[in-house]
Amino acid sequence: MKRYSAFAVAREALRYNTGWGRAWRSPEPKKHYDVIIVGAGGHGLATAYYLGKNFGITNVAIIEKGWLGGGNTGRNTTIIRSNYLQDPSAAIYEKARSLYEDMSQDLNYNVMFSPRGVIMLAQTEHEVRGYKRTAHANALQGVPTEWITPARVKELVPIINLAGPRYPVLGGLWQERGGTARHDAVAWGYARACSDMGMDIIQKCEVTGVRRDGDRVVGVDTTKGAIDCNKIGMVVAGNCSALSDMAGFRLPVESVALQALVSEPIKPCMDVVVMANTVHGYMSQSDKGEMVIGGGTDAFNNYTQRGSFHHIEETVRALVETFPMVSRLKMLRQWGGIVDVTGDRSPIISATPVEGCFVNCGWGTGGFKAIPGSGWAMAELMAKGTAPLAEEFSMTRFREGKFIDESVAAGVAH
Ligand SMILES: Cc1cc2nc3c(=O)[nH]c(=O)nc-3n(C[C@H](O)[C@H](O)[C@H](O)COP(=O)(O)OP(=O)(O)OC[C@H]3O[C@@H](n4cnc5c(N)ncnc54)[C@H](O)[C@@H]3O)c2cc1C
Repeated sequence: MKRYSAFAVAREALRYNTGWGRAWRSPEPKKHYDVIIVGAGGHGLATAYYLGKNFGITNVAIIEKGWLGGGNTGRNTTIIRSNYLQDPSAAIYEKARSLYEDMSQDLNYNVMFSPRGVIMLAQTEHEVRGYKRTAHANALQGVPTEWITPARVKELVPIINLAGPRYPVLGGLWQERGGTARHDAVAWGYARACSDMGMDIIQKCEVTGVRRDGDRVVGVDTTKGAIDCNKIGMVVAGNCSALSDMAGFRLPVESVALQALVSEPIKPCMDVVVMANTVHGYMSQSDKGEMVIGGGTDAFNNYTQRGSFHHIEETVRALVETFPMVSRLKMLRQWGGIVDVTGDRSPIISATPVEGCFVNCGWGTGGFKAIPGSGWAMAELMAKGTAPLAEEFSMTRFREGKFIDESVAAGVAH
């Protein structure tokens, strides 16, 4: 693989960009792999990448029913933060946030990580107490966050309306090193690095069955034929229940639509991310100038990848009262993704009742920020059978009552 560099850009400019190679290969599947990862979203690709980088396991196929990054990884609002309440969550999200800091250098691919800061607004006394508690927990966990006053919120976000008609802004939880990254680039950067290590990314190939020999996994059936493997990692977000059903076990996960929308591009007006949980909406400004807006999940299970209309209305209402200037913006487009939600709002990174079969899911509305940390932990679990970062996130915790309750820190939608 040719390295991307300022020199390469200059050279290609001189020869009309005719010398760029493909960023990743598109091979036909082999008969057998050591490891098959199902799902070429961020988490699946990151798992494959760290299997190769950290453990030298490169006889790997990543199988994707659509196009890589076409699931939730390419549909999210790109917010990255690690200010969670419980210790296991803070550990994995902070690991991920710190890996984002030098991901562009590590992958030799510009993922446009922008640590611009994230504010979670407190608009009720209950939220004030909750976020102050999180700030104290973060201090103990070594995650730098702080409680800020309404005056500081206004200083950071001049376009905000502190005296909302329903809920005034009473302060906020501020994480200065949180921010955003370009979601497609994260998927593309990992894909390019995996392909470079000799791994096969097989797109437009749906896994239709999981083959077992007794209690052991031995391969998958796909729309491109049967493929054998020693281990399988299921990393398919909203489709995880369907996959686990194929393997013969059940997951405590519900799949619901979450949606987002963007406005027409405007001049720079907000250089931090703001989440307003009580009125239920959040917003940031993309590098192109669009206001990127997200809201809540549908209240019913579905696989439509659309989201229902009343949520757009609710989200825009929340945004208009928090940022009155939004009322004059035209919205460009809206989309949805199917997110995988667990009862305690924490993910599952786990071995399963089927030997050799591992699952990574349950990131729900907030897994983009976790991609590198999750891939790191899942790769270690698959390679060694145990991983410190994944220990508490086993699927058995629901049976044992060892919940990792993140319903407050999980925020509006994430
Ligand atoms: C509107 C929206 C906004 C969001 N905003 C944020 C945010 O701001 N910050 C944040 O941290 N998170 C956010 N999220 C959540 C985040 O996007 C997800 O948690 C994360 O992208 C999940 O990544 P993944 O790799 O697990 O899943 P995906 O990216 O969905 O990848 C799974 C892949 O598996 C493939 N697949 C499924 N079934 C099969 C099969 N049978 N065979 C082969 N392939 C299969 C799918 O096609 C898909 O490409 C948001 C999500 C949405 C929908």
